[in-house]
Amino acid sequence: MTDKAEPPATNISLFSIVMVLITVVLSVIALFIGFATYEGQEPNALPYMLIGFIGLAISAYLLLQTKRKPLREAFEMPQVVTTMLCQKCGFKNIRDFERGDYIFKETEPCPKCNDNMMITSIYREVKEKEK
Ligand SMILES: [Zn+2]
Repeated sequence: MTDKAEPPATNISLFSIVMVLITVVLSVIALFIGFATYEGQEPNALPYMLIGFIGLAISAYLLLQTKRKPLREAFEMPQVVTTMLCQKCGFKNIRDFERGDYIFKETEPCPKCNDNMMITSIYREVKEKEK
């Protein structure tokens, strides 16, 4: 399978977005408190500002993580293959699963005898892990 089409980047889970949003809001609130108290010459301003900046950094990191995730999931998607068998001469052909494939469906003609081939099996190809 040489399909290198890029998966849609809109596959970010709602949970991740909510997590990032909460972190951003909390960081902004902390920054506001920090600046507000800083103007009042409060010594407590620094920790608030620090929390705010750290929070923003974490949310930026989370955002990068959620953007990277869909690519990885698409890469690990199982490959489904369709096996076709010629009933006349026994020629066997394996190709990627296509939408609309089902077992006992007659497909393209056999390259050997030109008789219609039939789908005999559809299965998920197990990836062999290289070590
Ligand atoms: Zn054949």
